[in-house]
Amino acid sequence: MLNDAAFMRYSRQLMLEEFGPQAQEKLLAAKVLIVGLGGLGSPAALYLAAAGIGTLFLADDDQLHITNLQRQILYRTADLDQPKASLAKRELLRLNPLCEAVAISERLAGDALLRAIGNADIILDCSDNMETRHAINKACVDMGKTLISGSAVGFSGQLLVIEAPYLHGCYACLYPVQETVQRNCRTSGVLGPVVGTIGTLQALETLKILAGLPSSLSGKLRLFDGKTQNWRSLQLTRSPACSVCGGHREYSCQ
Ligand SMILES: [Zn+2]
Repeated sequence: MLNDAAFMRYSRQLMLEEFGPQAQEKLLAAKVLIVGLGGLGSPAALYLAAAGIGTLFLADDDQLHITNLQRQILYRTADLDQPKASLAKRELLRLNPLCEAVAISERLAGDALLRAIGNADIILDCSDNMETRHAINKACVDMGKTLISGSAVGFSGQLLVIEAPYLHGCYACLYPVQETVQRNCRTSGVLGPVVGTIGTLQALETLKILAGLPSSLSGKLRLFDGKTQNWRSLQLTRSPACSVCGGHREYSCQ
């Protein structure tokens, strides 16, 4: 049951016909893992904490660098050289003390990645490298989890939602592991609001899915062009040859 403080804090979303107290209680019970607390993870984590997600697992192995502050809006200049995961936890609890936040100051891989994904209801991939993206995708598909994947570089952003039973494939169908080309903010640059737009929309899809509303993105790849502010949508199709989801047709949906 929501108490008075929660009713007041979340009143503007509780007013929504499609939302209401039942949806709020689902958020309160939810566990969300955010992998990467940079330009995508910052707005995603802020909106999810503000909206009242029960538990946020916050994974990042980096310390705050001066070059991060142009787009990573969770942090302040005084925070330089400190671990991002604990900085993020501090800021999010200052924003909303009703949430629980768990800082994971390590690069999630292997068993630690599997454990973290196993503990979460929804996973946000806000990471900045293809190796991590593929590892997250595989673990999510293996465990039947919902993955909300975002990325941005230059003026371009992209967003996709991958849900069991993965009828439209997975991240590896779109970007086969062997064909991966590495391009990231460190080498190519990015404008803050471009990466912020994508991270914000990752939070929006998370809230909708947790509240029981359908995700309009399921099975689609959304591409954002920050120069023209145009969006394109591509229908995803499962690759029968995909080494990750190709053999997983028989998922039972909860
Ligand atoms: Zn696949």
